[in-house]
Amino acid sequence: MATDSFGRRIDYLRISVTDRCNLRCVYCMPEGGVAWKPHDELLTYEEIERFAAVAAGQGISKIRLTGGEPLVRRGLVGHVRRLLEVTGIEAIALTTNGTLLARYAHELAAAGLRRVNVSLDTLDPDVFARITRGGRLSEVLAGLDAAFDAGMDPVKLNVVVVRRLHQDLAAFARMTFERPVHVRFIEYMPVGGADDGTVCGGAEADGWTIEDEVPSDEILARLAAEGAAAGFGELKAVSREEAPGGWGPARYYRFDGAAGTLGVISPLSHHFCGECNRLRLTADGRLRTCLFSDDELDARSVLRTGDDDAVRALIERALAAKPEHHNMRVGTIRRMSQIGG
Ligand code: SAM
Ligand code: SF4
Repeated sequence: MATDSFGRRIDYLRISVTDRCNLRCVYCMPEGGVAWKPHDELLTYEEIERFAAVAAGQGISKIRLTGGEPLVRRGLVGHVRRLLEVTGIEAIALTTNGTLLARYAHELAAAGLRRVNVSLDTLDPDVFARITRGGRLSEVLAGLDAAFDAGMDPVKLNVVVVRRLHQDLAAFARMTFERPVHVRFIEYMPVGGADDGTVCGGAEADGWTIEDEVPSDEILARLAAEGAAAGFGELKAVSREEAPGGWGPARYYRFDGAAGTLGVISPLSHHFCGECNRLRLTADGRLRTCLFSDDELDARSVLRTGDDDAVRALIERALAAKPEHHNMRVGTIRRMSQIGG
């Protein structure tokens, strides 16, 4: 079992398999994209699998694959299958924008993937195209259908709430009556763009501002009021035992009679650093100890020496370096698409 210097148990590794993406969400990437890392700077699947095997020996049992958009990297299905064969790795999850999920859901399920998080911030096709700068909502909805059809469970939706986007939150509440989907509303975080002052979206999206952040208590109040007005009844807290199994800090609620749940993730208004259980590996092989900290360890160079003991020592250094809590600073050098959320 791995613990950090504050006694937190670290058993969860988030791996970004690519920094590339087929969308350009306004809160994540500048319109022109970011300069992709050259291929030889990215970890190969084999290197990621070796890293996972060493990390599993040190107590990591859960892995989430993310990006960029993980499904744009060729060969992801085989990678999932091989990661699940690593001794000590109990489960893999995928975070995806869902656009390619209709194509891959059944193959992923056959490879052993059960848990999928689809990022979807609106159910209005025009607003979706605006937020993602050109994405098609129908593709994501087809991806969601495919995930259910392939038997994935839990299927979660990630909704980043940004005030100026005026998202219809009650539409997601309605969806929980239609299918057993677990919707999580996430506070908008000031990540990326510290180097050029374009935190989050980039200049054309005006970047992150504190006014755009909607605290989770306000999200819940809006859901309760809009849900009641729509005749959904009372929004009630779901106990930990009844909540969809998760590896993170979401708190869940449900309208009576709904098949799915509504959750909130509040990294800013109720920060949950005391329960932090994770490390992050970027696509170019940097080990990050905190989403908000650009202090990274160079896992790629160590992996490329071929010395697994050195990889083990690096993970130990990362555990020792994990900060007690994030510093709430605005902006990081890396963008969210380069870290993986
Ligand atoms: N492309 C995949 C996707 O969108 O699911 C995986 C990578 S994406 C960076 C991971 C998650 O980070 C997504 O749910 C996305 O909505 C979220 N995200 C991106 N920028 C964010 C921000 N500034 N604040 C909060 N969440 C953000
Ligand atoms: Fe791409 Fe995901 Fe970032 Fe949107 S949130 S631009 S889909 S990496």
